[in-house]
Amino acid sequence: MKYTILLKFGEIALKGANRSYFENTLCRQIRHRVKRFGRFNVFKSQSTIAVEAADPSADLDGAYDICKKTFGVIALVRAYEAEKDMDSITSRVRELAPALIGDARTFKADARRSDKSFPLTSPEISALAGAAVLSACPHVKVDVHEPEVVVRVEIRDEKAYITGAQERGAGGMPVGTNGKALLLLSGGIDSPVAGHMICRRGVKLEVLHFESFPYTSERALEKVKELAQILAEYNGAVCFHTVSVTKIQEALSRSCDEEYFTLLLRRFMMRIAERIARDRDCRAIVTGESVGQVASQTIEALNVTNSVVSMPVFRPCVGLDKEEIIERSRRIGAFETSTLPYEDCCTVFTPRHPKTKPTEEGVAREEAKLDVEALIGEALSSQRQEWIKYE
Ligand code: ATP
Ligand code: MG
Repeated sequence: MKYTILLKFGEIALKGANRSYFENTLCRQIRHRVKRFGRFNVFKSQSTIAVEAADPSADLDGAYDICKKTFGVIALVRAYEAEKDMDSITSRVRELAPALIGDARTFKADARRSDKSFPLTSPEISALAGAAVLSACPHVKVDVHEPEVVVRVEIRDEKAYITGAQERGAGGMPVGTNGKALLLLSGGIDSPVAGHMICRRGVKLEVLHFESFPYTSERALEKVKELAQILAEYNGAVCFHTVSVTKIQEALSRSCDEEYFTLLLRRFMMRIAERIARDRDCRAIVTGESVGQVASQTIEALNVTNSVVSMPVFRPCVGLDKEEIIERSRRIGAFETSTLPYEDCCTVFTPRHPKTKPTEEGVAREEAKLDVEALIGEALSSQRQEWIKYE
């Protein structure tokens, strides 16, 4: 059955003078995102964005699902149109009632008028709509306090709408309204979740992945691209950077104390990330680190990892348990891909006894055995870039 998708925005409604900037950005993004499901009209109307099919072949359910993944949308609902007179409204309610009520045992009807010239008051409209539901579904009972379903009638300027259950949207803020950040994306569970959390705050992500060919495989890289593709559903097209750390890892294993391998590699990663971030106008680095999860994520280890960069490093998973991260990973649709069994550069040359309480002096002593600048330059010269399209 044909319906209009109505989207409510959340936090962005609070932003005073910026409000219309946020609203227009969201509206533009919705317009772009629903395109792949056919032709739609997307327009703003009284603090709601309406999405309606512009031709009968448009895939409304596909558009609905993508709106549900769009940051900045706090709630969404399917709205069925009716002519703006009470007889049309009640006959439409009768027709829709079985679908809107479903298995529910209780309901209430609730009317709102933003068009105050409509001849009936909201309570009068509610009463008539409620009676129409009861005539179509005699098994259901009215419960005004805790109804299982609310059947809403909205008398808006352009049309009347009848709506059923309202669903929660993705929340957050429209992507790009808070600038850009560079996500360090491994093939693991944590970094896609971290990226999703920051993206939800309106930050557009670019992605950097470190590979270590031939120690890591082509298939491992494909897996990370699949993860970037999943993030693109939220972020829009993702600029995907790849840098090889093979030479760095070989230099480390030749010259440095084994227990420092991972930490030293992580410092290289951060330095390289900061340079790429600056180059790409990204104002922060995002990682999936979480305090205490592994040896390289003790507070001491995070300190020596962090001390080589001056840009803010966001670690949104920092206070989450692994269980919570996994739950989020499932919800965003990344878990199946993240748990495919491929190697990561952090798992090659892993020390048998990694240093868990490193000091800045200890790390600097090991690093003095390397030509850090030359290794960074060499790694950067391997940088490749491609766009993972939103499709
Ligand atoms: P994840 O599940 O995200 O792989 P992890 O718990 O396995 O994280 P590490 O492997 O120590 O932890 O990595 C910590 C963080 O460093 C990752 O969340 C990611 O942001 C970054 N990182 C690790 N390996 C890579 C890589 N090969 N390319 C880019 N970033 C990486
Ligand atoms: Mg990992």
